[in-house]
Amino acid sequence: MPNLLNDNSWLDFEKTHLWHPYAPLEGALPPLPVKHAQGVHLTLEDGRKLIDGMSSWWSVIHGYNHPVLNDALKEQMDKMAHVMFGGLTHRPAAELAARLVKLTPEPLERVFLCDSGSVSVEVAIKMAIQYWHANGRPDKQRMLTIRRGYHGDTCGAMAVCDPETGMHHLFTHMLSEHFFAEAPTVVNDADWQDEDIAGFRDLIEAHHDEIAAVILEPIVQGAGGMRFYAPEYLRQIRALCDSHKVLLIADEIATGFGRTGTLFACEQAGISPDIMCLGKAITGGYMTLAAVLTTAEISTTISTNPPKAFMHGPTFMANPLACAVANASIDLLLDSPWQERIAAMSKAFDHHLLPCRSWDGVADVRIKGGIGVLELNQPVRMAAITRRFVDKGIWIRPFGKLVYVMPPYVISEEELNSLLTAMTETVAEELAASA
Ligand SMILES: *Cc1c(COP(=O)(O)O)cnc(C)c1O
Repeated sequence: MPNLLNDNSWLDFEKTHLWHPYAPLEGALPPLPVKHAQGVHLTLEDGRKLIDGMSSWWSVIHGYNHPVLNDALKEQMDKMAHVMFGGLTHRPAAELAARLVKLTPEPLERVFLCDSGSVSVEVAIKMAIQYWHANGRPDKQRMLTIRRGYHGDTCGAMAVCDPETGMHHLFTHMLSEHFFAEAPTVVNDADWQDEDIAGFRDLIEAHHDEIAAVILEPIVQGAGGMRFYAPEYLRQIRALCDSHKVLLIADEIATGFGRTGTLFACEQAGISPDIMCLGKAITGGYMTLAAVLTTAEISTTISTNPPKAFMHGPTFMANPLACAVANASIDLLLDSPWQERIAAMSKAFDHHLLPCRSWDGVADVRIKGGIGVLELNQPVRMAAITRRFVDKGIWIRPFGKLVYVMPPYVISEEELNSLLTAMTETVAEELAASA
């Protein structure tokens, strides 16, 4: 079949036929057509070039069109693009598992590779439930989590997202009911107050007989509100899980691979979870892939008790292309001065964003590693602010009251200054225009 869509007619077609994330199909702000992407730049079909402040949702840490990642993918492609993982295996998957076991905190050593972050959360929840079932505790099936969390869009994952921003009321009969503690408020250990965890403690004390696992995003709550919390909170949760026989699932899908300044955010609290989910930056933004790591004890318990199998197995499990590019991306990360790069980003955020704290209309400024957040008093006007960003040559996608950046780690000092100058100028203009 020849091209059905000529010239620019593909844009008209896509407007009426293609869904985009969290958007209506009709009447949405038209998406910007990207022709190619290189380093930290997105080039639009009309030739405009934007500095990317989003890393395509945390994932493109090495920048776009990276020669090392391109080569890894091409090399694997010439061997095999895919083969089923049931009954067959391949070197790229084993190589990836070895890397993940080596990098993640100590007792995590068994690896399940799956397609996306949301699926890895489903896998983690099922693992926790199967573990307790195998231990003769089939009554432990519920999760305990904290409000303001985000864990993905499939039903199991949605059920542990924040009930309000996750719009649980739309899906009441679909979603399992879990326990929700108030979100933590203390940001630094120095300001720690026991009150911050009181509600969580009450819930785990009252319901641990029904709870299979606590699931949370360590240190940084991402898509649920870009909030940061004290490592002490996480340490106390680890201790409460241990004393109440509840597993701890750390969803490091957004925080993993260096974004917060440590390779994994759990390291900032010096704890390790029983189950860890990884995704997003795992392939440097090239392919969809996620991983669930767990301990030998959990995997052995599941494997040696009926049904003597872990009951999950996606068609594209451990896709060789995705594994090969993940291996290359992890090596590239470890061979790079990523800590210095994250520290330099943090410093630039301090310089450009902290002064916004005193602005009328700015509720809060939050900075953690390679994440810089302006929280406004009012939701932004998406069409207007997006137009201003693009006119200034940057790509930032706010949500609600949050205007935030998490640039590729390879962004240069000059590009970062341009990005942040344009970001703060735009926010100032928007605040003035909407005042
Ligand atoms: C993005 C994200 C997910 C979901 O991952 P997908 O690949 O979009 O399914 C889950 N948890 C966290 C913390 C995330 O940031």
